Amino acid sequence: MPDIKKPSQFDLDKSLSAQQLTLLGVVAEASGKRGMPLYLVGGFVRDLLLGSPATDFDLVVEGDAIALAQALAAQYGGRVTVHARFGTAQWFNPDFGHRALDFISTRLETYKHPGALPTVKPGRLADDLARRDFTINTLAVRIDGEYWGQLRDDLEGLKDLRGGLVRVLHPNSFLDDPTRLFRAVRYEQRYGFQIAPETLALIPPARPLIGSLSAERVRHELDLILEEEQAVAILTRLGELDLLQSVHAALEWNNPKRERFIRGLRLSQDGNSKPGLSSSGKSFLDWHFWLMDNPPTDINSIDQRLHFHAKLLESLLAASALFADVPTLAGMKKPSQAVTRLEGLPLTAVEAVFLSIPEGQARQNLHNYLEIWRHVKPKTNGHDLQKRGLLPGPRYRQILYRLRQAWLDGDVETESDELKLLEKLINLG
Ligand code: ATP
Ligand code: MG
Repeated sequence: MPDIKKPSQFDLDKSLSAQQLTLLGVVAEASGKRGMPLYLVGGFVRDLLLGSPATDFDLVVEGDAIALAQALAAQYGGRVTVHARFGTAQWFNPDFGHRALDFISTRLETYKHPGALPTVKPGRLADDLARRDFTINTLAVRIDGEYWGQLRDDLEGLKDLRGGLVRVLHPNSFLDDPTRLFRAVRYEQRYGFQIAPETLALIPPARPLIGSLSAERVRHELDLILEEEQAVAILTRLGELDLLQSVHAALEWNNPKRERFIRGLRLSQDGNSKPGLSSSGKSFLDWHFWLMDNPPTDINSIDQRLHFHAKLLESLLAASALFADVPTLAGMKKPSQAVTRLEGLPLTAVEAVFLSIPEGQARQNLHNYLEIWRHVKPKTNGHDLQKRGLLPGPRYRQILYRLRQAWLDGDVETESDELKLLEKLINLG
């Protein structure tokens, strides 16, 4: 039986960058010489056909991926990392770009029970495509030797890509791997597609199985979603499909959250977010926009389900407390009061609340804290106090604190003002 159901030629040369072409050319030749069918697969092909090729290749070999990577290193140099257990290898050769190239052997996967990680065995390309999540991710382009550019479309991926449909490959797909529920919505909203009606009908019965997924797997999917440009649309759709509350009852999506999220995202992209503050990445900040109006008890409880990284949890709890405190913050007339409230909080927490609340006094205070107040320090330091004959002790901190307050609140405006105040404070004590 012929392997290829609908052979058609794909013009790779037109779609790839010169550097990608050189690299793939080398790999294609090496696999061709060894008679090893080699395919570009998955997201790379999907995005290539949609006209926005990604920079990362997914390559699968029908055969020994490790031997192929080693052969390339023998011929062209570079370094090979082997994962014998998974039958995968990485080839890194800086002459062909700064990225390592992954080689994966085509595999057959079976699921012991829903939510489990699959059991993996070597298989043919057809098996490898059949284990995938959606038809749009099953397209492959063969590149070895004379087969360069041959499109392989076993599962009607092209039709669904053209029709803008996200479709699972079989009715048990979501049961086998409930993370696909989140992936379906992510692709649907990212590309402005629709989940195919038959696939949509499979969602409600699969929902309860989300409970069988590990913390890491669900959190990973949610992180991927928050990294997306269309995060708001994805969360809205997940909310409509009741997929968020299946993760945790307190994981909600509603209009106030949506508005805050949109405002926060817009401002952080407008450059209001200073470099160094949200260095933690888009999803880190997005979690704050999403959860800051949940009370700390909710956040701790969601953390029981998702196991946030400690730094994120700490920052989310701080943002939640701060968000609840916004009315108080709005009433603070003196900068020193605001600084006392904000000092020591994770900066991302302060920044997230600043970015996502409406304009007003609280927002202004947060802005001033981030931009100005947190950098205000008195000229005097511990050394100076020592020189003045003060014995080191808690008084140092009190005095320096009072000096800083005076600068913050405008009671002191020059160095000589500060010295006068310093004299007064020393004489007082
Ligand atoms: P993205 O642009 O989001 O990276 P991608 O298609 O490259 O999209 P990856 O998560 O990098 O997605 O996965 C690569 C390929 O592996 C996918 O195209 C898909 O075919 C397959 N895959 C990934 N996750 C699953 C899953 N949970 N179930 C089945 N197949 C999956
Ligand atoms: Mg990818």
